[in-house]
Amino acid sequence: MAIIDESKAIIQPLNPDWHPSDLRGIDMLRLDLINPVISGNKWYKLKYNLQHALGAGYRSVLTFGGAYSNHLIATAAAAKERGLKCIGIVRGTYAENELTPTLKNCIEYGMHLVFVSREDYAKKDDGLWLQEISTQFDEPFIIPEGGANELGRRGAEDIAAMIPASYTHVCVSIGTATTFIGLRNALPASQQLLGFAPMKNGIYLEEEISKKVLREKNDNWQLLDKWHFGGFGKYNEDLVKFMNDFYKINGIPLDMVYTAKMMYGTRSLSFGEPFKINKCEDSGEALASVLCIHTGGLQGNDTIKDKLNY
Ligand SMILES: *Cc1c(COP(=O)(O)O)cnc(C)c1O
Repeated sequence: MAIIDESKAIIQPLNPDWHPSDLRGIDMLRLDLINPVISGNKWYKLKYNLQHALGAGYRSVLTFGGAYSNHLIATAAAAKERGLKCIGIVRGTYAENELTPTLKNCIEYGMHLVFVSREDYAKKDDGLWLQEISTQFDEPFIIPEGGANELGRRGAEDIAAMIPASYTHVCVSIGTATTFIGLRNALPASQQLLGFAPMKNGIYLEEEISKKVLREKNDNWQLLDKWHFGGFGKYNEDLVKFMNDFYKINGIPLDMVYTAKMMYGTRSLSFGEPFKINKCEDSGEALASVLCIHTGGLQGNDTIKDKLNY
């Protein structure tokens, strides 16, 4: 397992032919490059969790995820790397009999998988239930699903530190919104933050977000849930074609679950109003300069790899 190298997270301009010419530019922050498995935002959400677990003397960590979860596999690999034992609570008992490539890899990294019913999984934030599993497993440090805690959000602030203030808009895809909240709290209030939800009705996350965003930053952010392509993990031929075209013109692989949908949405927006709000008063020249965050997750393409040209 390659070590995580945060310095590999470069900012790469997209081919100007990919977007309308009246934008200053669209660039991509390549968090996918820091490590092939502990990829993208998942590392940032885990780093302070693992540091805390080690510092507080825990010998193991326990976390939660579905059968295709990027968070689960990133935790398995990062815990191994840090010398911590690791337990993964998997949603759905059926998954035990049909291990996905993600779960097989989790096991390879030494994660102990526990398959629970959807009803039990729903208790994942219930203190009593957590205490119960804790005693079963040598009192591990518990990381919530998706790394969605204060330490996870602090990691997302490290991502914000990589973003120059010259960008007018920052785009990121959303799952638990942990990354989004950390970013909104750490980026200058003047930078517009756009979150792309890859699931149906993702707009429900708005309430949760506004509760956790600092009052002085609770502005200049927007959630978009139009580009879900049928729901979380769903895709169609249009999205696959988009991913292949994007790779051809920009040389950057996107993942089917999150970043492809974000970039599809970003491209749609780039032809409309949202990115043109910063028109220069005198010249009428559009000044929007967009940074899209590649949050990794490329292992999620496993199920469609036959359809991709990368
Ligand atoms: C998990 C994940 C997200 C969502 O991150 P949250 O912090 O849960 O909102 C976005 N992109 C990729 C590639 C992911 O794996």
